[in-house]
Amino acid sequence: MSIKNNLIAIKEKLSKEVTLVAVSKTKPNEAILEAYEAGQRVFGENKIQEMTQKWETLPKDIQWHMIGHVQRNKVKYMAEFVSLVHGVDSFRLLLEINKQAKKHDRVIPCLLQMHIAEEETKFGLDTLELDAMLNSEEFAALENIRIEGLMGMATFTQDQEQVRKEFASLKSIFDNLKQKLPDITVLSMGMSGDYGIAIEEGSTMVRIGSSIFGARNYS
Ligand SMILES: *Cc1c(COP(=O)(O)O)cnc(C)c1O
Repeated sequence: MSIKNNLIAIKEKLSKEVTLVAVSKTKPNEAILEAYEAGQRVFGENKIQEMTQKWETLPKDIQWHMIGHVQRNKVKYMAEFVSLVHGVDSFRLLLEINKQAKKHDRVIPCLLQMHIAEEETKFGLDTLELDAMLNSEEFAALENIRIEGLMGMATFTQDQEQVRKEFASLKSIFDNLKQKLPDITVLSMGMSGDYGIAIEEGSTMVRIGSSIFGARNYS
């Protein structure tokens, strides 16, 4: 299967309301251009330096999403161009994004990453941390970030009911949050292995890499 055919096959399974983020981390520009020529414009990367290099060389109408864990000292490199930061998991990071966005006189759209998996290693906020952040005066004062929704990753397991339960919990946090932030629209959940379940549980944005570009080679 070609990248183009993979994209077509996935798009057929997604309703119009679900945004496809093509996760191109570790993949060369040629692979991204192949997807671009098939009409894909939204790409996700998990390393800021790699994303910045790709932004510099690839067509400027690509929307770059930062989907990985963000180190505060690297926010400055992406502040000029990033379209959506999925992995915001601390107030200190949000402050830094706000500061760097201000330098470019722009507002950076962000998702708050929630910890929904059983694994200790996955990043994210819990609901107490989320509430504390949203209720703080410092949060209300940030003018150069906009919270557009939530992101989460399920446990890496074959147990589909476990995955479903975790996505459902994120959806319910999202629905609660909507009462406080009525403008949020994005619920980023689902990857190659679990996006079908994620969509059934209310995802509006899926992040798919290997099912489009093939397996990644980290060697
Ligand atoms: C790599 C990555 C994905 C895509 O994973 P695939 O299994 O290749 O679809 C999605 N989300 C995040 C946060 C990732 O780091």
